Amino acid sequence: MAEQTPKWVYSFGGGHADGSAADKDRLGGKGAHLAEMSRIGLPVPPGFTIATDVCAAYYENGRKLPDALRPMVDEALVQMASFSGAQFGDVEHPLLVSVRSGARASMPGMMDTVLNLGLNDQTVEGLARRTDDRRFAYDTYRRFIQMYADVVLGVDHGLFEDILENYKALKGYELDPELQADDWIEIVARFKSLVEKELGLRFPQSLGDQLWGAIAAVFGSWQNARAIAYRRLHDIPDDWGTAVTVQTMVFGNKGDNSATGVVFTRNPSTGENELFGEFLLNAQGEDVVAGLRTPQPLTKQASAANGNGKLSLEEAMPEAFATLKQNCAALERHFRDLQDIEFTIEAGELFMLQTRTGKRSTQAALKIAVDMAGEGIITQEEAVMRIDPAQLDQLLHPTLDPNADMTVLAKGLPASPGAASGEIVFDADEAVHMKSQGHTVILARIETSPEDVQGMHAAAGILTTRGGMTSHAAVVARGMGRPCVAGVAAAHIDLERETLEAAGVVLRKGDIVTIDGSSGKIIKGRVSMRQPDLSPDFATLMEWADGLRRMDVRANADTPADARHARDFGAEGIGLCRTEHMFFQANRIVAMREMILAETKEARRAALAELLPEQRQDFIELFEIMKGLPVTIRLFDPPLHEFLPHEDDAIADVAEAMGVSIERLKRRVAVLSEFNPMLGQRGARLLVSYPEIVDMQARAIIEAAIETGKELHDRVRPEIMVPLVATKRELDIIKDRIAETARAVEKERETTVAFQVGSMVELPRACLVAGEIAESAEFFSFGTNDLTQTTFGLSRDDAGRFLGEYADKGIINHDPFMTLDAAVGELMQIGVERGRAVRPDLKIGICGEHGGDPETIGFCEKIGLSYVSCSPYRVPVARLAAAQAAVKNPAVTDR
Ligand code: ADP
Ligand code: MG
Ligand code: MG
Repeated sequence: MAEQTPKWVYSFGGGHADGSAADKDRLGGKGAHLAEMSRIGLPVPPGFTIATDVCAAYYENGRKLPDALRPMVDEALVQMASFSGAQFGDVEHPLLVSVRSGARASMPGMMDTVLNLGLNDQTVEGLARRTDDRRFAYDTYRRFIQMYADVVLGVDHGLFEDILENYKALKGYELDPELQADDWIEIVARFKSLVEKELGLRFPQSLGDQLWGAIAAVFGSWQNARAIAYRRLHDIPDDWGTAVTVQTMVFGNKGDNSATGVVFTRNPSTGENELFGEFLLNAQGEDVVAGLRTPQPLTKQASAANGNGKLSLEEAMPEAFATLKQNCAALERHFRDLQDIEFTIEAGELFMLQTRTGKRSTQAALKIAVDMAGEGIITQEEAVMRIDPAQLDQLLHPTLDPNADMTVLAKGLPASPGAASGEIVFDADEAVHMKSQGHTVILARIETSPEDVQGMHAAAGILTTRGGMTSHAAVVARGMGRPCVAGVAAAHIDLERETLEAAGVVLRKGDIVTIDGSSGKIIKGRVSMRQPDLSPDFATLMEWADGLRRMDVRANADTPADARHARDFGAEGIGLCRTEHMFFQANRIVAMREMILAETKEARRAALAELLPEQRQDFIELFEIMKGLPVTIRLFDPPLHEFLPHEDDAIADVAEAMGVSIERLKRRVAVLSEFNPMLGQRGARLLVSYPEIVDMQARAIIEAAIETGKELHDRVRPEIMVPLVATKRELDIIKDRIAETARAVEKERETTVAFQVGSMVELPRACLVAGEIAESAEFFSFGTNDLTQTTFGLSRDDAGRFLGEYADKGIINHDPFMTLDAAVGELMQIGVERGRAVRPDLKIGICGEHGGDPETIGFCEKIGLSYVSCSPYRVPVARLAAAQAAVKNPAVTDR
């Protein structure tokens, strides 16, 4: 017994269909939507779709179609004939069809289509008689020969175009519509001899051969080079396969009452609720793609705005236009999203040939989602789910004007989004100086270090010739919201001569350069920009997102400016304030260095006392800006050597400035030098050894809380965070020290301050002993940058050398410093479980770079974090991602 063959062929037409929109996997997007359009009563030319399984069978069979398909197709052809009376092979009433490709995911233009199939030397005459239009019949025949020969027989379509062009030149015609029936008859003859010459055989006259040849060729086009490349680019699996749709032809080339066109139900670049599209009179779909004639606008309004005098469809064919408009509205309501539609008008009658979800700009996506929710087409929750958080980032930064002329000098990594123009400078101090003089500067460095941070802040953009997506420059620039292009290997910086050379152009200090941190381009001179224009829709969508969100979103902010940005973008607190950044400022680094050089506790205390008022003032400002929202302040974290000079010249300068001998400074540098500073005496380890630092910082925080504006004072909620904790005992020692200072200050000021002491969790050990640490810690914050480094045993600053190769060789899927690694996530999960087992209401956040990554935010929701914290500019992205994560994980609740 033969196995029962599955249903392979799905008919549609006349208000019915075997399949529906739910069958995308088997019928492809095009086939499924044709079926759906037919079901809801739209005018779709009848036809049938051969399922994607047949594509798999075709390739398994060594590029042969299974025999069982034939009877199914024959039956479907008979059914098609019942709609129009036209029959495949009937000379007097010939049925013409298109044979169309269509996969589960849209792959526009990547695979093949054959139109007007069913014509041979007899049926073309039949068509001419039946339509009483020889010109039309032979125009259609020549279109078919060219397309079939190209797609199925492999004759280059350019050869046909040459024949047509030569013929028109000879006869003095300019446009195809000028050609008459005799001209097309002559061209058909020439086309057929071309095929004979090229292939040594006649153009196929058997309609059956034509049909099966075309079906096989369209299945075959799944494996053409274009389609394969497109799939790679868009992560479409090779085994999905394409479906093939055979559909009754409708003719947009039947004279001036016929047309073909494309329409979006709304404007895909602005989101405006207006039909947007183009059409060609007396043409077939392929003519629009070929771009030989300039299409006309659809609406009267568009034609008035930029139609350069061309008549709109609305004016040329008002009835067909009105039907089109109705159908567009029906499709949008039915599919509940923007539709991108193909249509043809045959002798005044409108037919719908395709509909799919329309691609759109981020700006349009936002407007369409908000408008559709307003119109009741979708819910607010659906509107929130429709916006890609990663895309939202584009809206928050200036972008290059896409129409601007530009000389691109080189390309590097798009390390931090946004574009900026300014005078190029090669030194961080110079950047600060020029900024203070009112200049806009781009800081160009070979690579950056913590000493450059002030200069990076002063610059409008940063470029480095070395380093990767997680280099110091990239990470800091993203945190600050500065555009950054990193690792521009093709550019050469000469720091001595202060020049940048690329593509044979030399830029000197002060020359204007533009960088685009979204594409990685370095451009000579100024380029016009588009400023981010946050529409009211943005605010509306964010409000809806906030209503759905469970996790809080805080920002990492070290300065009052950062904190203000954070508030503007909707941050609900500061999740990480890195106090050491405050010490790099010019006036403070001296006191800082004195503190480091001090060899006695007293000397160290004296130097710290100088820093106290400055630090207190920093915190007062932050508390005032945050108006009672939580502010997490991390105690001093980096190894001390970062504040000391290392090159001989710099050592001499600093020694002189500080009035100490070069020898003494060198000795101190040597004492503090470590083999692996990132794994050395930093964070909690440093604070245990130098408790005076804790005293000063705790005092600055508590005093600031007391001194912050009267009305706020009771609401200020400092959260003091200890970095790089590995054991409960470390935390206890530091926590006791903080408590002691707090008691002293509270006594002096005769008041109390509600503060908490918590722990960074950024070492695998801390995750494992989270239960013990939670006995002392009042909150946790995962520092996923260090946790990633220590979990992999990998230094982020050195990873750039080989992470690229690791990605190429498939050892890693993505940069673990950008998207959280699963193993790091598992450690976090252990930390959460063990911490909350001891302290059920433990507040837990994340403050690493990952805190702004949508995928990581999804994970944080799953493991029940209380909040995420990210750079101020990522806050809207995080708010949206957190809302989407909450919708996807309804079971996760607050502790
Ligand atoms: P693609 O996926 O490349 O857009 P299509 O299968 O949609 O390929 O077809 C290409 C062009 O041919 C489109 O403009 C389409 O509207 C037109 N077309 C396809 N089938 C028919 C048909 N049955 N009648 C008229 N035009 C058709
Ligand atoms: Mg199409
Ligand atoms: Mg850390």
